[in-house]
Amino acid sequence: MNRIGVDEARALWNEASDEELKQLAGEVRARYHEPNRATYMVMRIVNYTNVCVAQCDYCAFYVLPNQSGGYVLSREDVFAKIDELLEFGGDLVGFNGGFNPKLPLDYYCGLFASVRERYGERVEFYALTVAEFVFLADRAKLSYAEAAARLRDAGVHWVTGGGSEILTEDFRARHAKWKYTVADYFDAQRAIVESGLRTTATMVIGFDETLDERLEHLQRTRDFQDETGGLFSFLCWTYKPYGTAFGGREISPQEYWRWIALSRIFLDNVEHIRTSVLTQNEEAFRALDYGADDFDLPIEDEVTQKAGAHIDLDLEGLLEVPRRLGYRVEYRHAARPPALAGP
Ligand code: SF4
Repeated sequence: MNRIGVDEARALWNEASDEELKQLAGEVRARYHEPNRATYMVMRIVNYTNVCVAQCDYCAFYVLPNQSGGYVLSREDVFAKIDELLEFGGDLVGFNGGFNPKLPLDYYCGLFASVRERYGERVEFYALTVAEFVFLADRAKLSYAEAAARLRDAGVHWVTGGGSEILTEDFRARHAKWKYTVADYFDAQRAIVESGLRTTATMVIGFDETLDERLEHLQRTRDFQDETGGLFSFLCWTYKPYGTAFGGREISPQEYWRWIALSRIFLDNVEHIRTSVLTQNEEAFRALDYGADDFDLPIEDEVTQKAGAHIDLDLEGLLEVPRRLGYRVEYRHAARPPALAGP
């Protein structure tokens, strides 16, 4: 099938049956992947601090700097969490925390350098999300290019596209006006790619976003990929509303699967479409029939767990679900990205 525009995507969303979406998404998936093969990683999000000044209304994780209950993990705590991940057979860490005004960019560079020194290439890590990167670069009064170079020199390979939720200025103003602007987000991610670091795209659905806002997010993501080619993958997960100021209800698995299909069809220039076991549990695997090809088995993520996510540590039991659906599942090691450039 040919590339579709926003109007065609809207029509597919409103009118196509599940079977039609599966078939079209399967066509695009087959350009990149064997039909019955799926890949996965075992990973842990290390939430190094819960202190945050961004005050997103959909977040149940943060505390303000002057409130009780705030923490910053010690390096020993971080190493212990990574050691436990290795015992589970995993090799990918995602660092993710709040916008803590007491932690400057130097703190992060020191932490990441120590992780690289201790684990070498045995463990790969997503150092920050683009959202955290914007905050840290701004506070350090560095350009995005300068901040990305500092991270790269500390041994960082990846800054992921996490923290993007819905990338429209209206959505940001409604829910996360202190976090970043969409323009800043993509300027930062462009600098990350140009510095030789790798990155990814993410999306979260199920707030109060309109269909047009979801489509704008996909359009911006595809445009960025056309321009830079820097996005390794696209991961969509679903909003967990429990304990948040915004509240709300969870969307159905069927709506999630259909959105994965539409994303696979629309993002014809992104190799990997990832489904979220973290927020959809066993229901996530059905998204492999809707165009997804890859997933994480997470062993911890405090941000989503605080908002109601449930983590199942029976990893072999989880893997039986895609096998029963007819997929051969293979571990995808989080090796050093071949396209990494720079000194
Ligand atoms: S989502 Fe992230 S940036 Fe927003 S309040 Fe929570 S921890 Fe802070």
